[in-house]
Amino acid sequence: MELLDDSIVPERARDVKQEAREFADEYIAPNAEAYYDSGDYPWEVLEAGMDAGLIAQDIGEEYGGKGFDLAQVLAIAEEFYRADAGIALTLQLASFGAEMVEDYGTEEQKEKYLRPVAENEQISGLAVSEPQTGSDLAGMTTKAEKVEGGYELTGEKYWVGNAVEADWLTVYAKTGESDDRYSNYTLFIVETDSDGYEAEHIPEKMGMRASKQGHIVFEDCFVPEENVVGSEGGGFYALADFFNHGRVIVGGHGLGLAAAAIEEAEAFISDREAFGRTIDDFQAVQHTISDMRIGFESARALNWRACEKVANGEDAGYWAALAKTKSTEVATDCAEMGMKLHGGRSNFTDRRIARVYRDVRIPVIYEGANDIQRNLIYRQSR
Ligand SMILES: Cc1cc2nc3c(=O)[nH]c(=O)nc-3n(C[C@H](O)[C@H](O)[C@H](O)COP(=O)(O)OP(=O)(O)OC[C@H]3O[C@@H](n4cnc5c(N)ncnc54)[C@H](O)[C@@H]3O)c2cc1C
Repeated sequence: MELLDDSIVPERARDVKQEAREFADEYIAPNAEAYYDSGDYPWEVLEAGMDAGLIAQDIGEEYGGKGFDLAQVLAIAEEFYRADAGIALTLQLASFGAEMVEDYGTEEQKEKYLRPVAENEQISGLAVSEPQTGSDLAGMTTKAEKVEGGYELTGEKYWVGNAVEADWLTVYAKTGESDDRYSNYTLFIVETDSDGYEAEHIPEKMGMRASKQGHIVFEDCFVPEENVVGSEGGGFYALADFFNHGRVIVGGHGLGLAAAAIEEAEAFISDREAFGRTIDDFQAVQHTISDMRIGFESARALNWRACEKVANGEDAGYWAALAKTKSTEVATDCAEMGMKLHGGRSNFTDRRIARVYRDVRIPVIYEGANDIQRNLIYRQSR
C-alpha cells in the first residue's frame, strides 16, 4: 500500500506533490548513490529542480516565487527525502534563511536579495550554530559591533549549509549584553564575498553526503546598516518563529526517510528466502513491518495536523516540536527495523537501507536537537 498517499495532503498541495514525486524519480533517486560516493555538491540536480520550478518557490509571487505554503513545502519534502536525503537537503536549503528576509526585511532587501533567490539566480543559507554552541540560541558568541555605517562581525559559525556555495547568508549575531539574554541578537544579510568572511567545508559526514556544510570565520567583517533584517535585538524571536515552520518541514524529512525504509524492507522480505520460504512468511517479520507502519502512520497524521496548526498560528511552537520529534524518531526506528530485516546485507554500504540508516541520524539533530524539542513540548504544554 502506497505510503506517501495524498489523502492526508490538502488538495492545494497535491499537484506539487505529484510534480515532486516525478522529479524525485527522474533526478534524485537515480543519482543518490553516485553523489553519496563522490560527496560532491549536486549542482546538476539542483539546476534541474530549478528548471522544474521546485526550488525556493516558497518565496512570494511579488518577489518572483510561487508562494508555496507550508503544506506545499511539506509535501515536496516528503517526496524528495523518500528519494534521497542528501540531495533533498541541498534542494531544500537553496533558500534557507531567505524566509526571514521576506518576513522582516525591507523592500530594498527583498528586491536585492530575495528576488534573485526566488528567480534561482542565487542561493542563500542560514548561519546560527557555532563550534561551541548549537542548542543554546541565546548563548551564541559571534559579535556584531556597531561601527560607522554598519556593523563589524567577529566570531565563528559551524554546520552552516551552503556556507561555501551560497551568495549570501542570514547571519545571527550578538548585538547586546542585556540581562534578558533573548534580546541580545540580531539578524544580518552577509554577502559571502565580503572581506573578513572565510568559509571552508567541515569534515566529511557519514550521512547526507550530497549536502554541504561549512565552518565560517568572521574577522572584522563589515556589514552595512541597511543589511540588518528586522529590528536590532529581534533576532532570537524571528528565528524562533522561523523554526516553527522549519520543524514541520523537518518532520517531512523524517517521513520521507521512514517511507524509504519501509518500502525497502517490504521489497526485501518478499524476495529473500530462508527455511524454504520467503521471509515475509514469518510472523515476526510481518509484525516488524506492522510496527514500522504503525509508527509511520501515527507520525504522518501528527505531522500534517501540526502543519495546519502552525500555518494557522495555533500553539505553533508546541505542534512543531511534537511533529519534528515524532517523525524524525519514527525514521530512526524504521531504519533500525529495516536493517534488521535485511540481515547481513544491511551492511553493504551501497544498499538504500544502509543509506537511510546513516541519514536518519541527522534530522533528529538539526533544526534543534530532539531533547530541546522535548523541553519545548513540556514548557509549552503547561
Ligand atoms: C547536517 C547538518 C546540517 C546543519 N545545518 C545547519 C545550518 O544550515 N545552519 C545552522 O546554523 N546550523 C546547522 N546545523 C547545526 C544544528 O542545528 C546543530 O547541530 C543542533 O542545533 C545541535 O547543536 P550541537 O550540534 O552544537 O549540539 P549541542 O548543543 O552540543 O547538544 C548536544 C546534545 O546535548 C543534549 N543537550 C544540549 N542541551 C540540552 C538541553 N538544554 N536539554 C536537554 N539536552 C540537551 C542533546 O542531547 C543534544 O543532542 C546543522 C547540523 C547538521 C548535522
